[in-house]
Amino acid sequence: MTKTFEIAVFQGDGIGPEIMGPTLELLGQMAQASSAYDLSFTDAPAGAAHYAKTGESLPEHSMETARRADAILLSAMGLPDVRYADGTEISPQIELRKALTLFAGVRPVTVRKGQRTPLNMPADREIDFVLVRESTEGLFHSQGCGEVTKDEARETLLITREISEQLFEFAFTLAKTRKAAGRGPGKVTCVDKANVFRAFAFFREMFDAEAAKHTGIKAEHAYVDATALWMVQKPWDFDVMVTENMFGDILSDLGAGLMGGLGLAPSADIGRDHAVFQPCHGSAPDIAGQGLANPFAMILSAALMLDWLGIKHEISDMRRDGTRLRESVENVVARGQVLTRDLGGSAGTQEAARAVMEETFAA
Ligand code: NAD
Repeated sequence: MTKTFEIAVFQGDGIGPEIMGPTLELLGQMAQASSAYDLSFTDAPAGAAHYAKTGESLPEHSMETARRADAILLSAMGLPDVRYADGTEISPQIELRKALTLFAGVRPVTVRKGQRTPLNMPADREIDFVLVRESTEGLFHSQGCGEVTKDEARETLLITREISEQLFEFAFTLAKTRKAAGRGPGKVTCVDKANVFRAFAFFREMFDAEAAKHTGIKAEHAYVDATALWMVQKPWDFDVMVTENMFGDILSDLGAGLMGGLGLAPSADIGRDHAVFQPCHGSAPDIAGQGLANPFAMILSAALMLDWLGIKHEISDMRRDGTRLRESVENVVARGQVLTRDLGGSAGTQEAARAVMEETFAA
């Protein structure tokens, strides 16, 4: 029997609609070719342009659409010239993380053979790890309520048992799923600063307690500064990494750099009941409206969505299609014939998306 999934779609700002369009087309075609699942897309208006027009950045009806949906696809939101009165930017994507308790920020980093990377990698090496960034607390906890006087500024970091335990359980389950799929040896690295801060000693203690429940998975610790070094020197050693919000924010961009840029970096923000899938990059206002945006990170995020829904609802066709979509992008990137400008090529958004479509439905 075909199961239909409701997908909330945040087209967002800047290049958002340009990369979302071809992604929905790809997903629609894959669903059409499958008898196991179908996808129904509902637009959820939100973002900076919406705020400028209506005074609302994340309307309640869009929030409702997101809450009702089986999964949420989001391109990018925010425009540097559109701000709240306090000077901060419109960022409903961060509000969504908090409102839906999306504690696990999943940031896969892959570099396949043949793919361009700024690293001088041995030819037989590939990179394939996942950074799990806690996404609801940490140093982002005091976002919007930091105290600033004439002479001092204070922001507070929060680590809770409730969220950390769910985060670590998620990371170990992910390592298990990856190992079963032949991706990674089954290892989780806790990235912290437990040598300096008590909050991170607490974080590490909870990590160790979760590790003890997963005998088939290796658990190890690393300080965040050393991790930055090793991500450059021997990134192939990592499998699943799990860390605090701000550390993850920084390290995930380093991961994107290893892949050759933000245009190839997908992400998922996952909670108990909801999940948002979106590229790591922003709305790229400098190239918006010109047909130049790289759609690959958006398409890879959609592949993560298929994989997540497939696992959650035990639909093997969806998992297979998620893998197929990811591999199609990887193949197009590795061949290097159809690349957008940010990756050193000259293709536009449509041409790049068409190459993925052809690769996906070849054979
Ligand atoms: P950005 O990621 O939008 O752009 C940085 C640079 O990367 C730009 O030169 C841009 O042209 C390029 N770039 C980004 N995505 C690209 C793509 N798909 N294809 C080709 N080139 C691409 O970061 P920024 O300029 O710092 O931010 C722009 C706006 O986006 C801001 O308003 C910011 O707040 C917002 N933002 C949103 C998110 C999100 O929605 N998750 C994330 C980051 C930034």
